[in-house]
Amino acid sequence: MIEIKDLHKSYKMGSNSLHVLKGINFKVKEGELVAIMGSSGSGKSTLLNILGMLDGADSGEYTLDGVPIKNLSETKAAQYRNKFLGFIFQSFNLINYKSALENVALPLYYQKVPRKERQEKAMKYLERVGLKPWADHLPSELSGGQKQRVAIARAMAAEPKVLLADEPTGALDSTTSYEVMDLIQKINDDGNTILVVTHEEDIAHMCKRIVHLKDGIIVEDKKIEQVRAEQYV
Ligand code: ATP
Ligand code: MG
Repeated sequence: MIEIKDLHKSYKMGSNSLHVLKGINFKVKEGELVAIMGSSGSGKSTLLNILGMLDGADSGEYTLDGVPIKNLSETKAAQYRNKFLGFIFQSFNLINYKSALENVALPLYYQKVPRKERQEKAMKYLERVGLKPWADHLPSELSGGQKQRVAIARAMAAEPKVLLADEPTGALDSTTSYEVMDLIQKINDDGNTILVVTHEEDIAHMCKRIVHLKDGIIVEDKKIEQVRAEQYV
């Protein structure tokens, strides 16, 4: 599903340049649930933004569902992003003056899905995240966990193959975090490929594979069974 080879990324700041990703290689197969861990500033968001086609790499290869991203025109890239990728953020990024339902329906509006179908799909995904009774509520009337579930429904509404979540539980207390991760696990069980950036060990342990980023490279990449087995040595 995802394959990256020798990915490099630097940020230019005046005459200085900060080399953040220094040759990242990894593959994600369809149906995986991968945690990307690393300390603050290790480049997790930078990597996720490149995977999400929100930003470009300086060099290296990125293939998404068999298609090399580099060669796509901007229009094609945008189409591709809308079709394949859904995003979930730490701060939910909901539109405050729109109801839960309208927030979920918004990506479908941009995809020019007819109104009735938009409403139906949005309701279906709100139900999927357990928030059908809250469809008419504004984000300000929802708890943090509920807001994140609306954001998850919104990410799913366009039925992407891959969900990219940057610290999805970063703004939530631990009980709510586990509930949101439960939901992410269920969505993964249904077949979505999901990448979760987190710096919390227990959140990462709810994924099937953990990748550690340090000083711009991947220093560890293990299946959860292996991580667990090593804990008891
Ligand atoms: P955190 O856990 O704090 O979210 P992170 O692992 O997601 O950290 P990144 O946001 O990828 O880290 O940032 C990696 C490095 O790149 C940091 O040193 C950051 O200051 C720098 N950086 C990130 N975005 C930019 C930018 N747009 N311009 C310049 N520097 C940037
Ligand atoms: Mg980050």
